[in-house]
Amino acid sequence: MPDLAQILNRLDREMRADGDWGEVAAYIPELARVPKDRFAIAVVTADGSLYRAGDADEPFSVQSITKVFTLAIALGRSGDQLWHRVGREPSGRAFNSIVQLEQENGRPRNPFINAGAIVVTDEVLSGREPREALAEIVQFLKTACGSDDVYINNAVAASETAHGHRNFALAHFLASFDNLLNPPDLTLGTYFHHCALEMSTVQLARAGRFLVNAPDLPRLISATRVRRLNALMMTCGHYDGSGDFAYRVGIPGKSGVGGGILAIVPNVASIAVWSPGLNRYGNSAKGTEALARLTRLMDWSVF
Ligand code: GLN
Repeated sequence: MPDLAQILNRLDREMRADGDWGEVAAYIPELARVPKDRFAIAVVTADGSLYRAGDADEPFSVQSITKVFTLAIALGRSGDQLWHRVGREPSGRAFNSIVQLEQENGRPRNPFINAGAIVVTDEVLSGREPREALAEIVQFLKTACGSDDVYINNAVAASETAHGHRNFALAHFLASFDNLLNPPDLTLGTYFHHCALEMSTVQLARAGRFLVNAPDLPRLISATRVRRLNALMMTCGHYDGSGDFAYRVGIPGKSGVGGGILAIVPNVASIAVWSPGLNRYGNSAKGTEALARLTRLMDWSVF
């Protein structure tokens, strides 16, 4: 195997040498305060070894990456029933698009666009209080990454609540099609808070191990479900940039507007990258580029 430690250091140098740090997400004001000039990468291989470079211990807002974990929990609670409420097709639209939801009668295209993730959160919330649902989500992440140092940034959640008009519109649209079990405010409160979870790049890479499907890694869900979550990450994990990500990087991944990406090399490794500047799809620009270079150098691909 090529020298992974050396490759990560090289990628860290290359990403910093390019002074264009892009633009951070500004529609959540609290996220706009994050310094742009950050880059981190961490890889945990199937034998449990950790490799890292850059600002890999700095916590950042995980945002939509939590949608993979909430989907795992929702499928555990509801099984395939969930698919009556949400589809499994790429949307070809921005993560917060509304137009498709009306055309398709309130059944979101997939669980990773915002409308779909709101439905998934609603399923995780059903029959209990938001704090109980959030406690399960936070505990799942703690167990997955093997650390208790995972927390919700309430300032980020409050900032998104105050400015989340699109998500409120989506939730009310879902309710108008009878595709919300709980009051929109409760489901959205839960959604905003799990999006506001903070983790470091190292913690995120460790948390992704349950998706690698190797014998020694934590088994939080069945092997079949691991494959299916990876399939959804491949086809839908980067919104309308999913095809581009598959072409350039060649492995399943899930992005968040905080600038993080969790990517999985099935049976081989869990990878997390973080750089807050985003590309036009709302996915980390340097994060995507670093993953493209890493998979090429390591000869990692699902194809
Ligand atoms: N909390 C964000 C939102 O709902 C998550 C979006 C993302 O990370 N792509 O808009």
